This record gives sequence, C-alpha cells and structure tokens, in this order.
Amino acid sequence: MALDPFTGPVPPIAGLGFTGNPLDRADRLRQDPALLAQSAAHPEARLMVLAGLDPPLARDGLDWQPMAEAGAGDELLLLGLDAGAPRFALARPSAPGQRPLDLRKLAGLLSEVEAGIYAQARSMLGWHDRHRHCAVCGAPTRAEKGGYLRRCTSGMCGAEHFPRTDPVTIMLVIDGDRCLLGRKKEFPRRSYSALAGFLEPGETIEDAVRREVMEEAGIRCGQVRYVASQPWPFPSSLMIGCFAEALSDAITIDSSELEDVQWFDLDACEAALAGHGPFVVAPPLAIAHHLLKAWVELRR
Ligand SMILES: [Zn+2]
Repeated sequence: MALDPFTGPVPPIAGLGFTGNPLDRADRLRQDPALLAQSAAHPEARLMVLAGLDPPLARDGLDWQPMAEAGAGDELLLLGLDAGAPRFALARPSAPGQRPLDLRKLAGLLSEVEAGIYAQARSMLGWHDRHRHCAVCGAPTRAEKGGYLRRCTSGMCGAEHFPRTDPVTIMLVIDGDRCLLGRKKEFPRRSYSALAGFLEPGETIEDAVRREVMEEAGIRCGQVRYVASQPWPFPSSLMIGCFAEALSDAITIDSSELEDVQWFDLDACEAALAGHGPFVVAPPLAIAHHLLKAWVELRR
C-alpha cells in the first residue's frame, strides 16, 4: 500500500556516506591538558596523518600511525576514543603536484566506520588550516582543547573561535507520484539529483527548503518533513535531507544554478535506482540517493 511521505513512517535509512563514526568524542579529555598529554602517551594511541586533506591509505583502509610520527610543533587533534584507545589526527602538506583524491574513488576505499572518522578529521583539520588568524583582530591563533577551540594570541583580544558546521538543506520535492530533480552543468551526463542549498542566517530548515525550491525551480512548497542528515566534509557541511510537498507544478529554472529541472514519475525513479532509468541517480554515498529510494519505497 502506498504511504503518505508526510504522515507515514519514513523507512530506516542505512549506508549513508560519512555517518558511521563510532568514536567516543571524549569531551572530558579536551578540557584538561594533563589528560590530553596522557592520552597522547597511551600505548594504544594512534595517529591519522592526512596529506593535504586526503586520507592516509593502507592496503585495506585507513593507515593509522604510532604517535611518534607527530613532531614537537604539531597541533594534535583529538578525534576521540576507539574502545578506550585514543585516536588523533594532524595534516601535513600533500606532495607537490599531487591532485586531491576523487570523491567517488574515496567511497570505495574506506569502510563506513573509517569514512565517518575521516569526515570528522577532514572537516576539523580543514577548519584549522583556514583559521590560523583571528577573525576579530588578525593576530595568529593557536589550538586548545584538543583542537576544538582556537584562541587569539593577542593579549588585547583573546577571542575564542570554534569549529563550524554549515547546514545545507537537500530536498526531494514531491507531487503525488512525481518528484522534482535537477542537474547542474558539471554533473556527469544524464545525472539528476535532489535540489539543495545553504541555510541562511535567521532561517528555519523549513523556510530554507521552501525558499531554495522557489529560487531554483519556481515551485511553491507546503509541508516539509525532515528525513535524515549527513555530514559532508567538503569542507564542513551538514546535509539536512527533507521531503517537501509541491503546491504548484510549473517549473521556472534558475539557469545560473541549474541546467535542467524535471518532474520524474515513480516508474522512472524506480528504474533509475535499479540502474536502467531515463536518468542517472546520485551514488549511494550521497543523501540524495537515499531520499529518492525512501520515497519510492514508501509509494510502493
Ligand atoms: Zn584577536
């Protein structure tokens, strides 16, 4: 029996990329420099050394190093505890001319758990790299609290800066047994995905979903239902996946954002998820894939 995506149960969503981080983030250790030093000296402590922001890879996944790899001047990021064993990370410059790892390739190289831990390390180390100076006065900053704070070193200022997460709404717009998907020019050929956009200050998630859909496709939306979220560490987004109810159906494309927007019916979406539809679905790494799949499962 077809279920209403706004009132029926949402099918459980599993296998979303970057959501498998099992570490205990151990906030209590961050507060105390002595405990942090003890953790770094723990015999089972290990270190992830990113090259640029790429993960260090061994034959079968992430390559964890002994703590001796860290130099005296390195700012260590405490990722957390893995069954009591401390896990740290730091970033080193990548080799000259080295191109960053392709995202799709990355998905095949790391397990769900490893991808989740890497997402935390990548977002945090990227933030450190971009916040070497105080946004208030311009003086250098230094890391504290295991890497979860940067403090301005100027005695006149001393401002505290915290790592940021940038919320992005991503929504499957639904009109009965059709849904709205769009493509950007840079997408692979025939690929269509859910519309998405950053939340703006002073906006609710629901406001942002309705505004983005109106801006990008000219469609008015009513009900908005939260479905699932996903960290997206490029560099520090949180994808907030929603269903949105369409109240109008004539599409007006914002061509500065999107190359095409179309309604696709349930049959087309089901075939696309099975790999032989009229369009190509976002890969299972991405929440757009899971929103579409959840909706198709609800309607069947
Ligand atoms: Zn300052």
